[in-house]
Amino acid sequence: MTGKRAGNICPLCGGALEAGSATIPFILKESIVIVKHVPSQICVECREPFLTGRETDVITDLLTQVKELSSEVTVLTFPEPAFA
Ligand SMILES: [Zn+2]
Repeated sequence: MTGKRAGNICPLCGGALEAGSATIPFILKESIVIVKHVPSQICVECREPFLTGRETDVITDLLTQVKELSSEVTVLTFPEPAFA
């Protein structure tokens, strides 16, 4: 036991997760959206980023807005907490 909260384990490889920020591509039906500086838990072993519920909500919101732009590739920066 390390005193860390349960659940900070990568579901893919079992590595430890640490807080960081990641650039994550989201592939939609007709387009690709790349979101930079997403606060996430990143696996120290396989570097896979995992989002928390709050970040997922913000990104779902962003993707909904982007869909209306109908551009093929969009690059966004994750909003600051004050903005979100
Ligand atoms: Zn991993």
